[in-house]
Amino acid sequence: MQITYQFRLYPTPKQEELMIRTLIMCRKLYNRAKEQRDTVYNQEGRTVTYAMQQNELPVFKKEFPEYKEVHSQVLQDCLRRLDDAYQRFFRGEAGFPHYKSADRYLSFTYPQPGAVSKTFARDRYVYLSKIGFVRMRTHRSFDQANVTQINVKRHADGWMAGIGVNIEAAEADQTAKTAVGIDVGLRTFAALSDETKVDNPRHLRRAEKRLRRAQQRLSRKARGSRNRQKAKQKVANIHQKVARQRKDFLHKQSHRIVQGHDLIAVEQLKVKNMIRNRRLSKSISDAGWRRFITYLSYKAARQGKRLVQVPAHGTSQTCICGADVPKTLAIRLHECKECGLVQDRDIVSAQVILQRALSIVA
Ligand SMILES: [Zn+2]
Repeated sequence: MQITYQFRLYPTPKQEELMIRTLIMCRKLYNRAKEQRDTVYNQEGRTVTYAMQQNELPVFKKEFPEYKEVHSQVLQDCLRRLDDAYQRFFRGEAGFPHYKSADRYLSFTYPQPGAVSKTFARDRYVYLSKIGFVRMRTHRSFDQANVTQINVKRHADGWMAGIGVNIEAAEADQTAKTAVGIDVGLRTFAALSDETKVDNPRHLRRAEKRLRRAQQRLSRKARGSRNRQKAKQKVANIHQKVARQRKDFLHKQSHRIVQGHDLIAVEQLKVKNMIRNRRLSKSISDAGWRRFITYLSYKAARQGKRLVQVPAHGTSQTCICGADVPKTLAIRLHECKECGLVQDRDIVSAQVILQRALSIVA
């Protein structure tokens, strides 16, 4: 099982200069390699592969000697990223790869680092080939022998190292102790396996009500009238406000959950299918679960924590003892005849989700 720890870096001015240069060169290489792929394909109908581009790297370096300043595996990783972008496009998971502008190319990666860090005068340093030992603030220890990759990323307020570490099953077990399952719902926003619930905030419910009313008023105005223009503007204003409040709420909740847990389990949502049921559609799309899971997932990744998505099938119809406890949407209480558990149905779902995630991880 791989975990990524994020640590802040404190490069010297000279090191930072090298890191910025590395980013620039990586981006140029990425864009050149993309251009080559597209040109060859358009002119000759041939696909340029990752392997072909990697094999050309030595020649490329002869032509552009400044690239000797960048570790060759870092350059290979640029080509790998480009290849991944094309593979995602071929699989239909993403659009056609873009050229990268400077504000969209913010990290470089050492895919197979060797010995990575040392301690000197109580400070820890991470070794970045061709850049040197960069001071790094570590808040947890990790076994150097298990480091699988190092990613160096530029943020608005400085640099971070994402250190990928392979951890043992025993360690993974420990991780599970601070694990949580989340069931996202219609009545309450979310139920957690630790028997707590998160409600949709009242101010947000009220703002959404205002929005619905403004939308109704708009629909009654005559087309092309000035009043319609005004009503339209009003809807747009409220809409923006609601969207902002909702995002803010989702950020706060996902932050809180990721802070408190090392493993977060959620259901795979098939919102597309659920929206077909028109009675439920409003609140589902409103709750923004998909966005919530997106937030959880990138916050978890950033903090080296784990988000596990489990198959949603039957999580609300099963007991944690494994027995089937069928219930319609109207039945709010879970009562298991097998083990005697009586509990809020959403809490039980959250616990079943957690159970499934732990069995996947194990
Ligand atoms: Zn039971």
